[in-house]
Amino acid sequence: MGTVSDVDLAELFDRSKSLDHGAITVPGYTADGWQVRIFGAVVPTDVPIADFSDEQLQEFLYGGARKVKLDEITTPGGPNVLRSSRAAKDLRQPTKAALGSRMLQGRACAGLLPLEMTLRRRVPVTWLILALSTGCDEPPSPGEAPEDGEIVEAVAGELIELEDGIQVEVPPPGDLVMIEVMYDDGNTAIATIVNDPDHGVRVEHPDEHLLGLPPGTAASCASKCSDSAYSYVFGSTRAKWKSRLNWHYRHGGSPVGKNAAINAFKHGAQAVPKQRNSCSMSDQSNATHRYEGETSTRPNIGKDGSNVFCKSPDGENVVGWGGLPDGTLAVTCSWASDDGSSTYRIIEADQRYDTSNRSWFTGNAVPNDCSGRFSLRAVATHEFGHAYGLGHTPNACKQVMADSASACTSRRKFGRGDVRGVRDLY
Ligand SMILES: [Zn+2]
Repeated sequence: MGTVSDVDLAELFDRSKSLDHGAITVPGYTADGWQVRIFGAVVPTDVPIADFSDEQLQEFLYGGARKVKLDEITTPGGPNVLRSSRAAKDLRQPTKAALGSRMLQGRACAGLLPLEMTLRRRVPVTWLILALSTGCDEPPSPGEAPEDGEIVEAVAGELIELEDGIQVEVPPPGDLVMIEVMYDDGNTAIATIVNDPDHGVRVEHPDEHLLGLPPGTAASCASKCSDSAYSYVFGSTRAKWKSRLNWHYRHGGSPVGKNAAINAFKHGAQAVPKQRNSCSMSDQSNATHRYEGETSTRPNIGKDGSNVFCKSPDGENVVGWGGLPDGTLAVTCSWASDDGSSTYRIIEADQRYDTSNRSWFTGNAVPNDCSGRFSLRAVATHEFGHAYGLGHTPNACKQVMADSASACTSRRKFGRGDVRGVRDLY
């Protein structure tokens, strides 16, 4: 699917140059940009393209499925002619195949060169799509279709698959839904589905929208308290609670004691309102929450075999337990709505924590005999961060909202980027 026959490759790159020396000639593509660094995982970047072997050229142009470590790569802010996006490609599953072909139809610009690559953790196959200037001379202006994300043909209430095992129900027009999955191998996955009444249903990847950085710079990651990057959990859409975040706890299925669990989740819920941080940054947050006691209502997050999915909002913010696919620690789903202002209103957030295949510790300190156990307080702080509207920060920066988790650690205090994110929203 998605072959592109009408693109003159000579317009895309200069064969006499290496990637490091500006071989890619599409406007907006710089030799030291993150997009070029992605190629470094599959082809040499210091060799002129003309000197590529046939295999390398094939990889460069059409690439095979693979995993590319992007730990040090961040996306710059501001518009680019070239955008990365990803989609499931597994043709064995009709939903995914349909998603892919519809996506291509949905792109506004004529030239598309799909490079099949795996860009990030737990994403089986990714397309790096180069939206060429060919046939798309004018950059999108406000009011035109957003250039981020992938347009999919889907209707409200339809369950769509985003990546292997991650599904969401498409929200009503004007609403968004976000799903975040934390795995026990250090990885996370996150996606936002926007039902834009003007432009259709769009899938975005929030961690491609880093904020808080000077233009053109990447997160420094020199230390937890010097990195200032943050992101919104709904990607390009800023959304927050406009009233108090009232949440309930469901103890059913818990592998830990009730009081210990409630205290751990309260700890997580308080981090944003208190801006609890390691960097001596003052508390300037207006965010508020209230623990409203136990409930019998389950978190609005389903599991079906090896799939997890966000259902429709039910009006209750529930933190609770339930089986999750192997290797999955926790899932947060949240929903936001266009209420007519530039900042959308978060309307619900649910969290489901895994009861199986692992064990948690519930105190502040890492137990002496810890092996493979995760801090419930730390994971809850991270998941509640999403519930309040924070997206991921780069892992290397050691923020609470970093896109990874490690066993036998207790990262419960925000870093600079985390706090800046909270201050931006609240
Ligand atoms: Zn996360």
